[in-house]
Parts: sequence; structure tokens; C-alpha cells
Amino acid sequence: MATTDVDIAVIGGGIGGLTLALALRQRGLEAEVFEQADALREVGAAVAIAANGSRILQRLGLGDQLAAAAVVPTALQYRHWRSGTVVADHPVGDAYARRFGAPFWGIHRASLQRTLSEAWDVERLHLGRCLAGVSDRADGVLLTFRDGRTVNARTVIGADGVHSQVRRHIDASVPVYSGTSGFRGMVPTDALPSLPSPSAVQFWMGPGGHVLHYAVGESVNFLAVLDGPERWPHQAGHVDAGQGELNAAFADWHPVVRELLGAVPQSPRWGLFTLPSPLHWSRGRSVLLGDAAHAMLPHHGQGANLTIEDAAVLARCIADAGPEGYESAFGRYERLRRPRARAVQRASWDTSEALHLPDGPTADIRDERLRTLDGWLGWIHGHDPESHPASVPPLADAHP
Ligand SMILES: Cc1cc2nc3c(=O)[nH]c(=O)nc-3n(C[C@H](O)[C@H](O)[C@H](O)COP(=O)(O)OP(=O)(O)OC[C@H]3O[C@@H](n4cnc5c(N)ncnc54)[C@H](O)[C@@H]3O)c2cc1C
Repeated sequence: MATTDVDIAVIGGGIGGLTLALALRQRGLEAEVFEQADALREVGAAVAIAANGSRILQRLGLGDQLAAAAVVPTALQYRHWRSGTVVADHPVGDAYARRFGAPFWGIHRASLQRTLSEAWDVERLHLGRCLAGVSDRADGVLLTFRDGRTVNARTVIGADGVHSQVRRHIDASVPVYSGTSGFRGMVPTDALPSLPSPSAVQFWMGPGGHVLHYAVGESVNFLAVLDGPERWPHQAGHVDAGQGELNAAFADWHPVVRELLGAVPQSPRWGLFTLPSPLHWSRGRSVLLGDAAHAMLPHHGQGANLTIEDAAVLARCIADAGPEGYESAFGRYERLRRPRARAVQRASWDTSEALHLPDGPTADIRDERLRTLDGWLGWIHGHDPESHPASVPPLADAHP
């Protein structure tokens, strides 16, 4: 079988791969995207796109379409797990967009994926192409796919997620299970008569777990996170949960939480993984982006947003460096992105512990900090890689 030559190969047609392809095109560069799935479909429910991601998607010309498909939350609220008392309440809506310079969107993953893929080029999106191996050549990188076909690429970008095949070629690091797992679901708002402020993003915080929910269209999307199981013995990132497992875990929680979780007959259980900073993000002509480089816990809702930021910065670095400047492009990209990715990763980890505190004095201190949202979220949501390429927080502001 003949080897095809391509200039820039992007492995993975997820949020990161497609955003990168569009960002490269905006700078006059064309890529070929190779995706293992036969059709683009997102497992999971919705995703929260914060200002640091939405401003980049707007610049790619996708703002109107995404805004039409998304819900802008009215507020961000934190509640006590059992009493339902509001611990902290921050307006979102227009005030958020004014503060951070771009909107906050709750959007169905399938809508985001569809908008990105429709903006891309069906002829340059190669579905059913699962990358099996990568090897360096003098003038490029040889990509071998599971179907036996081969591609010689001048450069390759691994946007192939937490279990990245491209990363195996670059670095020996492997994702680490966090000891926490989550259940996700979407419930029609009509089925939640007792839910207060259904249009707000809400965190219910309790001992050993938390529940996050926000509105998407006429539904409410939730992520319920629990400490445990201690080990994740499965190959797959998510597995079928036992009947009633979710409801049993939250049986003591406020009736609103039970109503929400009980409205979903069965949800898979997702192991939550993080990728301790790989030593290298690039090797020769290959480089990593998004979860492949820095998968993180979802407690700041930032994995996809950081991936979108990566795409904007990497596209700029590649375009600035010119066709043979991949080494300087990748070095510059990593220097700009690694400290920020690391800081958000760490903050997401610490947030997990903070959200799962038992009632008591430490939880009271956390609650006090949650009332001053700006200090610990501003450095994440207010970030704009175009104007300030690198941004990390003062240590004390990284988490509640
Ligand atoms: C429970 C949960 C909730 C989350 N909620 C949020 C949130 O609200 N906000 C947020 O910003 N982030 C959230 N995230 C994180 C977010 O989903 C990820 O960070 C984001 O999807 C990463 O994008 P990516 O493009 O790097 O990887 P992915 O989205 O994983 O895409 C990788 C793509 O590569 C393809 N691929 C994989 N291997 C190969 C191969 N060998 N060959 C070809 N193609 C391949 C895959 O099929 C996939 O399409 C959440 C994550 C979880 C687990």
C-alpha cells in the first residue's frame, strides 16, 4: 500500500484536534485530521466553556452558532450538601461576560463537536483512522494506522486524548487514576420541580463527594463525583455502574440532589484521571496538545478550555516559525503552555479535596474563600493567550 504524504497531520478529531485545524487554517496553514471513530459522536453529556475558551472560539468565527446552541447560566452557586443552604452566590450572565471579556456557555458536547466539524472540511477529516504507531524519518514522521495504511507527515500533532498513542512516541508518562470517579447525566428540567434556580451552575459540596449541575437547552446536565473506588481496574475510562449505585451513594443528601440523580435510570461511572506533567511535550517533529499533554480532573471544568487555548497558541507558534521551524515552534509552545496547564491541573486536584470536605472548621474556611470568587477563578477564566500568553496564579489563589 502506498504511503501518502501530508504536511501537518492532526491525530484526533475531538475538541482539541478540530479547534487546532481551524486555528491553523486561520493562519493560512492546512492540516489533515485523522480520527479513530467512524463517526464523530461525543460520549458524555455537556461541557462548560468558560471565557478563556469561548473568546478563542469566537475569534474562529463560531461565536454566533455556539451562542445559539448554548445556555448562559444566570449564576454560580455553592450549596451545602444536606441543608441546601447557599454558601456562595455569584452572578454570571452579562456580568461575567463584562468581567472576563467573553461568555460562559453550557453546551451539549454533540453540538460543540458538530459546530467544529461542520466548520472544518469533510475531505480533510479522515474518519475510521486509528493511529497504531509513530516513527521518525529524516524528512518527516511515519504514521501507521490500524487499517494498515501509512502516512508520511512533515509534522504530527497528538490531539488524541488522555490515552494518546502519539504520546507513547514522545514520553513514557501514563495517566494516573485520581481515586475519584464520576457519574454524568442529562435530565429534562420539567422533571425537576424542586430544583432551585435551574439556570444557575451549582455545586453541592459534601463529605466525600460533590454534585455539579448546569442547564443545557431544556435539560440540566450533572456530574456527580465521589471519592473512590480506591483503584480503577478497568481498561476503559468509563464502565457500566451497578444498578442503584449512584442513588445509594447520595442517599443522605438533600432531596433536590436525590431528585436530580434519581431521574436518570442508569449512568456509567467514569474513572477520573490526571496526567502528571510529562517530561516532554514534543520530540522531533511530533508534539502533544490538550488531554494528551495535560489531562486534568474536571473540577474546574477546564480540560476542554485549556485544550482550546493550546490550539490557539500552537497554531500561532507553528505559523510564526515557518515550514521547517517546528523545533523552535514546539519549544516556544511548551514554554508558554506548560506552567499554566500545570497550575490549572494542580488547582483542579486541590479543588476536588476542597469540595469533598466534611462539615467543620476547614469547610468553613473554604466557604469563606468561595465568597471571593474573583481571587481564585479570575486567573483561569480571565486568561487570553493572545494578549498574555502565559498566566499562572499566585499560589494562594489557585483553589478555594
Ligand atoms: C466527567 C468529565 C467532565 C468534564 N467536564 C468538562 C467541562 O465541563 N469543561 C471542560 O472544559 N472540560 C471538561 N472535561 C474535560 C474535557 O472533556 C477534555 O479535557 C477534552 O475533551 C479534551 O479534549 P482533547 O481534544 O484533548 O481530547 P478528547 O476530547 O479526548 O479527544 C481525543 C480524540 O482523539 C481520538 N483518538 C484517540 N486515540 C486515537 C488514535 N489512536 N487514532 C486516532 N484518533 C484517536 C478520540 O476518538 C477523540 O475523538 C470533562 C471531562 C470528564 C471526564
